[in-house]
Amino acid sequence: MRLIRAREIKLMWDGNQICALIGPDLHVGVGGFGDDVPDALLDLVGTIQADDDTTVWVPRHAVQYREDGVLKCQCPECGHIRVMHGFDRVIAYICPACGESVDVLPLADGEHDDEPPPDEDEHRE
Ligand SMILES: [Zn+2]
Repeated sequence: MRLIRAREIKLMWDGNQICALIGPDLHVGVGGFGDDVPDALLDLVGTIQADDDTTVWVPRHAVQYREDGVLKCQCPECGHIRVMHGFDRVIAYICPACGESVDVLPLADGEHDDEPPPDEDEHRE
């Protein structure tokens, strides 16, 4: 099975067609082509659905939180909880349990939160 980890679809010209690409390139990732963006996206959907061997995985963000004053992050991929000694906040880290790179949402309490939360997590349950 081929697993493509991605959070975005890139749109670009390829000759005189629009390419909708998931992944770094067409070799590692998967793409769709069309005369306009809707056609390219529809072709991308068809390509993904037709290939039972390919799965697109959208990595979740970890949530950082304080427990007894200690900053912690839980890996969304494997559930491992990492204690972040010496940090006021965490943006990203490599999970020591599963080895995945994990992006981290800003602290919910807002004490070190200068940036608005990303849009992509608005629809989480
Ligand atoms: Zn992990």
